[in-house]
Amino acid sequence: SDSHFPIPISPSDVDYSHHYPHFFPSEKCDHDNDNAPTPKIRFADIGCGFGGLLVSLSTIFPDTLMIGMELRDKVTEYVKERILALRASNPGQYENISVVRTNSMKYLPNYFGKAQLSKMFFLFPDPHFKEKNHRRRVISHQLFDEYACALEIGGIIYTVTDVEELGDWMRSCLEDHPLFTAVPEDELEVDPVVKLLTSATEEGQKVARNGGQTFMAIFRRIAYRTDL
Ligand code: SAM
Repeated sequence: SDSHFPIPISPSDVDYSHHYPHFFPSEKCDHDNDNAPTPKIRFADIGCGFGGLLVSLSTIFPDTLMIGMELRDKVTEYVKERILALRASNPGQYENISVVRTNSMKYLPNYFGKAQLSKMFFLFPDPHFKEKNHRRRVISHQLFDEYACALEIGGIIYTVTDVEELGDWMRSCLEDHPLFTAVPEDELEVDPVVKLLTSATEEGQKVARNGGQTFMAIFRRIAYRTDL
């Protein structure tokens, strides 16, 4: 249950120096840097599973801090170990990725301030097929208000699923929201992140092996929409 993992009271309550020691030099020996801004997490992978996306993104954006949020304890521990092992065998690399065990549906605002994030990922979220369980989906109209708050203007939400009904649901939640607009096709073609959505994660690889179809919805956070 939730009581088994720590819940920060606000984003500033989280000590990220344990997550990204290379980006948070120890205070004692770094007085010259007293005025340097505290680095902030910019990408969040919601329901990151075994962490394949973070690992792939890490080397593409080596100066960007990113975090996975994962509900399952054992899976979170696995991702932690995976990152530590990658850091050990590739010195200086994979220092920008980490993971927290949390329920992102409840505690996202405890981790991220307003307009902090530039990218959010929802890759192969649990479908919760039955209508009475739709409230358990990590994508919903209400939750998009929170996601809109955490994303900066211009920030992007990437979603993908192999479940057509869920794909339609995610797309319609985004289309209905006044603070999101679809990223045009020509921009998606040159975005290096897009091809990772179906290839980088463990779930994506499973779907690809089985020849399954995938459904993407990729939307940008905007200030307001004039077409509603
Ligand atoms: N994104 C990964 C991938 O593509 O391989 C994992 C997909 S898996 C089907 C969905 C993941 O979301 C599971 O690992 C599950 O534990 C996690 N999850 C479900 N609800 C969550 C929540 N409320 N907060 C954080 N993680 C959640």
